[in-house]
Amino acid sequence: NVPEPVNETVLNYAPGSRERKQLKEAILEARSKVIDIPMVIGGKEVTTSKKESIHPPHDHKHILANYSQGEKKHVTDAINSALKAKSNWEELAWEQRAAIFLKAADLIAGPYRYKLNAATMLGQSKNAYQAEIDSACELIDFLRFNVKYMTDIYKQQPPVSPRGVWNRLEQRPLEGFVFALTPFNFTAIAGNLPTSAAMMGNVVVWKPANTQIYSANVLMEIFREAGLPDGVINLVYVSGPDAGEVIFNHPDFAGIHFTGSTGVFQDIWKTIGNNIHKYKTYPRIVGETGGKDFILVHGSADVNAASTAIVRGAFEYQGQKCSAASRVYVASSVWPAIKERVLADLANIKMGPVEDFANFVNAVIDEKSFDKLAKYIDAAKKDKSLEIIAGGNYDKSKGYFIEPTIILTKDPNYITMCEELFGPVLTIFVFADKDFEKTLELVDNTSIYALTGAVIAQDRYAIATATNALRNAAGNFYINDKCTGAVVGQQPFGGARGSGTNDKAGSMINLLRWASPRAIKETF
Ligand code: GLU
Repeated sequence: NVPEPVNETVLNYAPGSRERKQLKEAILEARSKVIDIPMVIGGKEVTTSKKESIHPPHDHKHILANYSQGEKKHVTDAINSALKAKSNWEELAWEQRAAIFLKAADLIAGPYRYKLNAATMLGQSKNAYQAEIDSACELIDFLRFNVKYMTDIYKQQPPVSPRGVWNRLEQRPLEGFVFALTPFNFTAIAGNLPTSAAMMGNVVVWKPANTQIYSANVLMEIFREAGLPDGVINLVYVSGPDAGEVIFNHPDFAGIHFTGSTGVFQDIWKTIGNNIHKYKTYPRIVGETGGKDFILVHGSADVNAASTAIVRGAFEYQGQKCSAASRVYVASSVWPAIKERVLADLANIKMGPVEDFANFVNAVIDEKSFDKLAKYIDAAKKDKSLEIIAGGNYDKSKGYFIEPTIILTKDPNYITMCEELFGPVLTIFVFADKDFEKTLELVDNTSIYALTGAVIAQDRYAIATATNALRNAAGNFYINDKCTGAVVGQQPFGGARGSGTNDKAGSMINLLRWASPRAIKETF
């Protein structure tokens, strides 16, 4: 049996604490040099002459690293290395595979914690707390809980066998390689997508988002130090089109593990559909995509609970979680008190670089995202039917900073109530208390997504009605809490509709997608 997993304790980095000192040292160390980041293909570090620089989003003149940009031939090499590693890897006893991922979790919990958190903070502009719950705790939890789920799969109750027959169910890896395409916003997700497939005996080609390469490089260092054999996970830095052209035309493409935008996922799905005759096997398509996540505040709500859920749900990590609250519906009877509390909280929030631990809000990920968000804010400023009750300012001179912004609208279908913005811009609609049930319909029908949502209420009838009416509106539904911060092992994460295939990250459901069972009947 593997060790029973428990959730990793979150360190709080209080002033004067040892962990704060160590994290600050790791940040200084990372800032003091410009490193070269190679791809890792078949266990070899591969560099190219085409270098791209990595800058902290909150300090975009500083250079943290230069990475080697690859091209199509590197993707082909990565696939070949993966296929070469395949037979040894899948024949390794699962206990041996488990040990590698448990060791990786221990390395992150111990010697690599500050280095990895510092990389996430600098490369992705996450504050210390957000980095700790992501690249330390959530990733450690993914690794340890997934190892447990993996063993549960291998130890499943066997099929029944009548006398004279022995029936078995064998869980094989997929026939081919898995492509992991990972996002910038969680180092934990970037680590989870390749490892969960690899754990089940698969070989992987991994392409992280360009804006996460700085911490991806540390992840790969950890996986290799944990003993991951060469070629099991191959890390490439190539353009999306280059990766797509090689991977989706390859006969051994067996599955994709994806987190990213809905548009990209839909394009990938179409490409796979068009190429379906080229593959040896139907590829597994597993993806977590966009969200337009809601908080619904009933007239019976506790004002403090609702305000905290709104501020934290909408603005932690600058609203760049797929789960972030970006549309809020508040009953008019509680709105004045909530507005006062939310604005008071926002007045206390500091914005600035991650190196100053007092800053709650840091920069958005890149210029493209900054410009897109600024456009939505400008359009809202010009629209006389709207009111911007908080924030509204932005500045990209040093870093991509956007103030936490709240738009108040009388139109529940205003564009920022419907479209995913992926930034610190929240839109609020106030409804008459008597219209609660009508508002449930609005919540359900306003967006194409169904990732997370929350209802804040004391009234049991309201809670029950909302839970029932919104059963398809969110894959992760919270009662009297914010809609972010799912914990591995506690709330398996994922949504349906435009938000993904709902194969719940950090669960047995997800790991089963990376296995292809064979039923064996032996007659005596
Ligand atoms: N699991 C994260 C949460 O619950 C969100 C993951 C994502 O942004 O993709 O907040």
